[in-house]
Amino acid sequence: MEIIKTVSEVRDIVKKWRKAGHSIGLVPTMGYLHAGHGSLVEQSVKNNDKTVVSVFVNPAQFGPNEDLEKYPRDIKRDSELVASLGGDIIFKPEPEEMYKKSNATTVKVEGLSQKLCGITRPVHFVGVCQVVSKLFNIVTPDNAYFGLKDFQQYVIINKMVEDLNFPVKINPCAIVRDKNGLALSSRNVYLTDEETKSALSLNQSLQYAKSLISSGEKKAFFIIDEITKIINNVPYSKIDYVKIVDIDTLDDIDIVEKKYAVLLAVYIGKTRLIDNFTELS
Ligand code: AMP
Repeated sequence: MEIIKTVSEVRDIVKKWRKAGHSIGLVPTMGYLHAGHGSLVEQSVKNNDKTVVSVFVNPAQFGPNEDLEKYPRDIKRDSELVASLGGDIIFKPEPEEMYKKSNATTVKVEGLSQKLCGITRPVHFVGVCQVVSKLFNIVTPDNAYFGLKDFQQYVIINKMVEDLNFPVKINPCAIVRDKNGLALSSRNVYLTDEETKSALSLNQSLQYAKSLISSGEKKAFFIIDEITKIINNVPYSKIDYVKIVDIDTLDDIDIVEKKYAVLLAVYIGKTRLIDNFTELS
């Protein structure tokens, strides 16, 4: 397993792989890898001859007051994990390698990018689409793997691939959780022990919502209210949003029947966490 830092080196390796007839899987990440990322790598290794894991804390997807500087990084641990799972290369460019100062191009999926997380994080999905489209052009993967933990991101990337005819298959991967139910996230490292206890309310409220829906509850406002009560009941929590939406349009729905996603974003102390369940989970 090698760590590659430049676009031209990745292109050279990919060229050789293509010549040998290998298929390629890509797992885009911001590093500080955990078992959630690991499950994406495993699926890529299983279904492709070669797997590229990108580790890039992408400045373009952070707003001015977000955690770009303090985002956790540990390339030694990341490379051990990727090597142990059979990944072939980590692509870890410096920001200057990815973005020339003169860069003038952005990629914006209108509508979908401005809802849900896009309200609090207006530049986020433009940055995500920009870096993912660059990675698609650099690595030219047959398959790319995205976690359903970032459900809105998954929907937006699918739309971008459809709209711009990227020749890549997007593979959704189930949310990996800690034993206590907390969805794994690199940002969980910011939480104190007390905050971690409060963060468990996210999955607990979703599980309760799931049980309401399976026992026949269809009114979105009622389910949202129940989720809100559970989360508001724990210390350090501040809800950004709790929404039940159509999985294609991400528009609110009133009646929970089919093609729905229950999505939430909550600040626990200063840390913003997201979680969800959908028909795909
Ligand atoms: P990140 O490094 O947070 O940008 O995440 C990179 C990829 O890993 C994204 O496709 C995420 O959705 C996915 N991912 C992150 N956490 C999890 C998790 N707990 N379970 C499944 N996938 C995840």
